[in-house]
Amino acid sequence: MSDTQDYIETYYRDTLKSDKSRPVLDGEMRADVCVIGGGLAGLSTALGLAEYKKKVILLEANRIGWGASGRNGGFVAKGYACGYRQLVKQVGLPHTKELHKLATHGRALIKKRIENYKIDCGPVLNGVLGVSWNKNEQGVRDYIDFMQTELKAPLEYWTEEQVRSVCKTERYHEGFYSPEDYQFHPLNYAHGLAGGIESHGGQIFEKTKALSIDEKKDGGYIVHTAQGKVVCDQVVLSCSIYIDGALSTKLKYAAFPVYTYVMVTTPIPEEILDSALAMRYAIFDNRFAQDYYRRLPDNRILWGGRVDLSGNTQNLAQVMLRDLLKVYPQLEGHVQADYAWGGALCYAPHKMPQIGELKPGLWYNTCFGGHGLVPTSVGGDVVSSAIATGDERYKLFKPFSKLWFAGGPLSPYIAQSVYYAWRLRDFVRNLKN
Ligand SMILES: Cc1cc2nc3c(=O)[nH]c(=O)nc-3n(C[C@H](O)[C@H](O)[C@H](O)COP(=O)(O)OP(=O)(O)OC[C@H]3O[C@@H](n4cnc5c(N)ncnc54)[C@H](O)[C@@H]3O)c2cc1C
Repeated sequence: MSDTQDYIETYYRDTLKSDKSRPVLDGEMRADVCVIGGGLAGLSTALGLAEYKKKVILLEANRIGWGASGRNGGFVAKGYACGYRQLVKQVGLPHTKELHKLATHGRALIKKRIENYKIDCGPVLNGVLGVSWNKNEQGVRDYIDFMQTELKAPLEYWTEEQVRSVCKTERYHEGFYSPEDYQFHPLNYAHGLAGGIESHGGQIFEKTKALSIDEKKDGGYIVHTAQGKVVCDQVVLSCSIYIDGALSTKLKYAAFPVYTYVMVTTPIPEEILDSALAMRYAIFDNRFAQDYYRRLPDNRILWGGRVDLSGNTQNLAQVMLRDLLKVYPQLEGHVQADYAWGGALCYAPHKMPQIGELKPGLWYNTCFGGHGLVPTSVGGDVVSSAIATGDERYKLFKPFSKLWFAGGPLSPYIAQSVYYAWRLRDFVRNLKN
């Protein structure tokens, strides 16, 4: 019996523009590069390689965008999961500026590809608003000042009055507005990238799990699947938290899984929705276990939030609906949950992507955490250009590419402790306000 899976039930699955499936690999194939994993990290890498005219084969164990890449909030925002100020502490300001340059390029590359490959993943709406759950005017001003002065990011300060004029809730205080970040339909984008790869002659196989990798004596690798193999010069591992120890125990134990969740409401009459959310920017609050949400084109709300280590989706729809009604009680009686799902994030202890080479020609491009849409574009860009042209920008990730043991079988407990510590911090902040 097959252990591959179809898409889980999500709003994105049900609004796919074209659910084109790809064949299972059957027999022996030859490629310059075999990319393993059909999330946005693998797809962006494979498309970059195909654009450089490399013969590329991508293997996906389930379906294109089946993992986090087809289940996320759809916020395309610059930056990395670890946050820029944390990054300065880890690698210093000059290095942070270089990583920020890559993120700016990565975000622009997504828009360029949407245009070049005519990817129907809209509406692509600019504008992301970060709001304070607790009053924190000076903190927000300091953050904007840092982002404007050091990283030239055009963030705008919003007063409490401005925030509440569009998010009609007393839960929020001041905020910052980022005009260049945007939102889109991530699963349609993933399919668009797949189409782009194929338009350059690249090949994609779904329901084709890479089971093992052998190094060839005369150089290069053989990737084995249940019904076939790919003989290639180089391999890229973009398997996120699903990485199997048979492909790399180092990568498997250098990360731990964290789960986060999304609920989508039924359509809400426009005037009632306007009484709560009077604009279409994507919104997130500043807690660790934050709410992140946006209006969908058909007047639903996509509500994301919660993080834990269980991945348990029992009663999820009702739990998430309650979270929404805590912020917007005026929607009570007008709104129901139509979809609810969870997804797994891949975290390293430093919260930065892991990008590098395990050995010559065996690359990894993974571990993007809860802020992955722009960074997967960055990872795909730097790894594909490193392979195709010898470009060394990927080395900017060197400080994070040491594959430290992240706890192995104990990783869930380590992650749970970190999670509780952050929740405790939110709780204490609430008490103070
Ligand atoms: C609910 C949720 C909300 C989120 N919201 C946002 C957001 O709004 N903005 C943002 O920037 N980020 C967000 N993220 C994070 C973002 O989605 C991820 O960081 C990003 O999609 C990770 O991409 P990936 O390709 O590394 O992993 P995935 O998308 O998980 O892809 C990995 C793929 O590898 C395949 N695979 C694994 N092993 C093998 C194998 N042996 N052979 C073949 N294939 C294999 C898997 O089947 C899977 O499809 C969110 C994530 C979740 C879960």
